[in-house]
Amino acid sequence: MVGSLNYDHVVTVDQLPERGQTVSGQTYISVPGGKGLNQAVTASRLGAQVAMIGCLGDDLAGSLLRDVLTREGVQAAAVRTVAGRPSGTALITVERGGANTIVVAAAANGELGGQDVQAARHLFGPASVVLAQLEVPWPAVEAALQLARTVGARTLLNPSPAPGPLPEPLLALVDVLVPNETEALAMTACSAPAGAAERLLAQGCGAVVVTLGEQGALVAEAGRRPVSVPAYPVQAVDTTAAGDAFCATLAASLAAGGGLVEAVRRGCAAGAVAATVMGALPSLPTAAQVDRLQLLSSRHPEVGE
Ligand code: ADP
Repeated sequence: MVGSLNYDHVVTVDQLPERGQTVSGQTYISVPGGKGLNQAVTASRLGAQVAMIGCLGDDLAGSLLRDVLTREGVQAAAVRTVAGRPSGTALITVERGGANTIVVAAAANGELGGQDVQAARHLFGPASVVLAQLEVPWPAVEAALQLARTVGARTLLNPSPAPGPLPEPLLALVDVLVPNETEALAMTACSAPAGAAERLLAQGCGAVVVTLGEQGALVAEAGRRPVSVPAYPVQAVDTTAAGDAFCATLAASLAAGGGLVEAVRRGCAAGAVAATVMGALPSLPTAAQVDRLQLLSSRHPEVGE
């Protein structure tokens, strides 16, 4: 796992504020988060052996976050503590019904570089899947995807947050790209997920999985008809980290030898479980929770497009 580690501050509100508006919050919690940490913890809870590459600040949040990794069974030796920098922070507002806005300050995460990846190259040999997101600098992500390719590991990129189109040489290093709908559209300037997935395949990704919130996910592979995988119906209270649960579960399932559509189905179950619990870390599912939801919804056909 190559990615960010943050401390999240989460406030619930009746309605998300407009630009310039101040609203009163209801509940407040502070919890560990960051796409890299969320995905590392989920993959570990799903039974994968996970090593993380990232950067923490030399503050209290940094030591708490390192403890979380260790407690969750994630190898943290390649997570560097950066002197004189605070740890990454996310400010999250959640509306009743689950919609959210998130502002992330990268802080120490912004210090992760290609040299950190090279220093951890011993971790790539045994890795079957390398998963990265874009809350850390691109050179680190590119170095990780390149190194993964040289050792024959599968490369997964969750292009979040998507700054717009990504360079084709970076996309060409990606075996499975996993954007959500907003990211897929922002990366391609397309108006629908199916068109965006097709464009991203043409730009060099091996496969594209677009997550569609309560609509499930769309799987696109070159030369095959796209497959729609429906979501598991649940009572959503906070969709923060649903995408992280999805990506990590997809990676863990592929690492365990599953096929892509089967892994996406399991990812949908993990995303649905995450959407039923408030916050990021507390909502990340275990293998048992994902198994239970999949068992309960045994009738779960894909619909070919
Ligand atoms: P992100 O959190 O990155 O925006 P999505 O909202 O698309 O990602 O969620 C990722 C996955 O989690 C979806 O593909 C879906 O399977 C599941 N999921 C998200 N929200 C819900 C929901 N309200 N009900 C059921 N499943 C959901």
